[in-house]
This record gives sequence, C-alpha cells and structure tokens, in this order.
Amino acid sequence: MPRCDICSARDAVVYQTHTGLRLCKACFFSNVIARVSREIFRYGMIKHSDRILIGVSGGKDSFVLLDILSQIHEPSRLGGATIIEGIDGYNRAEHIAEIKRMATERGVELHVVSIKELWGASVDEMVRMSIEKGQRISPCTYCGIHRRKSLNLIARELGYNKVATAHNLDDEVQTIVINILRGDIARLYMNHPLRPKGSGLFIDKIKPLRKIYEWETAKYAYLASYKPQEVECPYLELFPSLRARVRDMIYRIEASKPGSMLRLLEWFDNVFNPLKQNNRETPKLGLCSICGEPTSPNRSICKSCELQIKSLGEVKIARSVLKTQL
Ligand code: SF4
Ligand code: ZN
Ligand code: ZN
Repeated sequence: MPRCDICSARDAVVYQTHTGLRLCKACFFSNVIARVSREIFRYGMIKHSDRILIGVSGGKDSFVLLDILSQIHEPSRLGGATIIEGIDGYNRAEHIAEIKRMATERGVELHVVSIKELWGASVDEMVRMSIEKGQRISPCTYCGIHRRKSLNLIARELGYNKVATAHNLDDEVQTIVINILRGDIARLYMNHPLRPKGSGLFIDKIKPLRKIYEWETAKYAYLASYKPQEVECPYLELFPSLRARVRDMIYRIEASKPGSMLRLLEWFDNVFNPLKQNNRETPKLGLCSICGEPTSPNRSICKSCELQIKSLGEVKIARSVLKTQL
C-alpha cells in the first residue's frame, strides 16, 4: 500500500480520482472537512449564533453532515430531524435507534416526526390512494414535498433559523442537468446557495456537502465505522426516474474525465454568483389559501395541499410538531 501523498507518515486508504491524491484516513477526513468549511465560508452559510436543524435520514450523507457540523459548530446549537415517511419495509425501528445513538454521541438533540402524524397520511397511503384514482404521480413527489414541508415546520416551531440538508455533489449535478434538460431556469436558480428566500415563513436552507462526491461520503462513513441503513426505498425500483438516467450518464462522463462533476458545479456557481449577489430579495411569495404556508407565484394553493387533495380528497392541516414528536 503506498504512503499518503499529504503526510507521508501513514498508508493511503483512499485514492481521490479528481485530484490524483492518495490519502490516509486522517488526511482524507481533514480534506473533506476543509472543503466543507470552505464552501460554508464562501457562501456565508453559517453564523456563530445560528441554530441549525439537520435533516437526518440516517444514510451515509446525513451521518457525514452531522459528524462534520458537530465538529465545526457548537453541538448545543444543532438539532437533528428524522422524518418517518411511512414506507413499508423502509422505516425500521432499529435504524431510528442507530440514528439516535449517533446524534446523542455528538451531543445533538434529535427530533423524530412522522409524515402520517403531521399530515394525516403516510407516503404509502398517499401513493395508494393516488394510484386508485388512476393518477400517475411519483411517490418521490409526495415524499419530497412533505419531507421538505415537515423540515421547515419543525425548524420554525422549535426555533431553528437554518435547515441543513445532506445533498452531495452527485445530487446537485443531477439536479442541474435535469433542470437544464427541462429548460426550467427558475428551478435552476433555486438550486444556487445565494438563491432568494421568497418568504419569511421559509427557514433558510443550506447544503454544506454540495462539493463532496457521494463516493467520498460513503468512504467517510465507512472509515468512521458508521453503518448506514442498507435497505433501499422500494419506490426506487418501481418508478425509475429521469434522475436515474441522468445519474448513469454523468457517472460515465466522470469515469472517463475525473473531476467533471466538480467543474460543472463550479461553472454553475460562477455563472449565477454575480446575478444572485445583486438580487437576494425577490418578490414575496403568496400564502396557500388552505394551509397558510408560502406558495409559488401564481398559485393560490401550495403543491403539498394540491397533492393531498388529489390523493386523499381533502387537506389534513399539520398538527403541531411539538405534540407529534415520537
Ligand atoms: Fe422518498 Fe423513496 Fe423517493 Fe427517496 S426514493 S424520495 S425515500 S419515495
Ligand atoms: Zn496522511
Ligand atoms: Zn397548502
């Protein structure tokens, strides 16, 4: 085994294809933490006084995010939120126990909330009723929208002023390419760290891992002896998405030209940086006439209420997070 290219003191355990460096475990951890810290600093994502709610699914990415933020921010000003989607075979009790252990070890309080408790129906139930009505709405649409809305609500009710999610470089690049393919410039904008908030009811979102490859979060979790949830969501296979096809294409390009994904995200940042820096304030979003949460321009009800009406026939207004924590 060759020696680490940085310290020369220890054996290398990681080959970083995009830099050509071989790194030992300690230097690899330092490298990832330094890059996350640089990204946080570049976009002013975190202030000393911030109370940050971290979305913790228990996968490798959310472990890495929790682990790194608890090293660079005061753990008593961090919280974790685990949203139970209500997907049969996916949300398991032993998995939640492992997430709790991981958060407690780092001095971070964990809040566990279920979509069914909060919104009146689980993702499985919304999907089933939607299929019964002959609709072709992806489970990920139900799941993603209600998870985002839940995180925002938990943060607002429990006094957090930032929500951190564990999106990695692979997620970000896929989203950019999908929005380019759809010609959706508005959504492309909304993926930038300097994107406008649109409403005071939205808690600021940050993505500190956005320049870290997914294979790096997997390696980091493995070297830190963390055992992520192994079970894949059953909907992944049932409903192959455009995202899966885009991911395969991007991986083929990355394999033949290492660093391509990082360069694409840097390009995106640099193109939108000057535009967004001058335009952080945007027109205020309206409020949904049913649930009172912010809604996109030109919409009288929000996407989540629309989905609930389509599947359930009615909207269940969220119960208080304070009363539904598990
Ligand atoms: Fe939700 Fe499963 Fe889709 Fe992930 S793959 S967004 S867990 S439904
Ligand atoms: Zn080293
Ligand atoms: Zn609504």
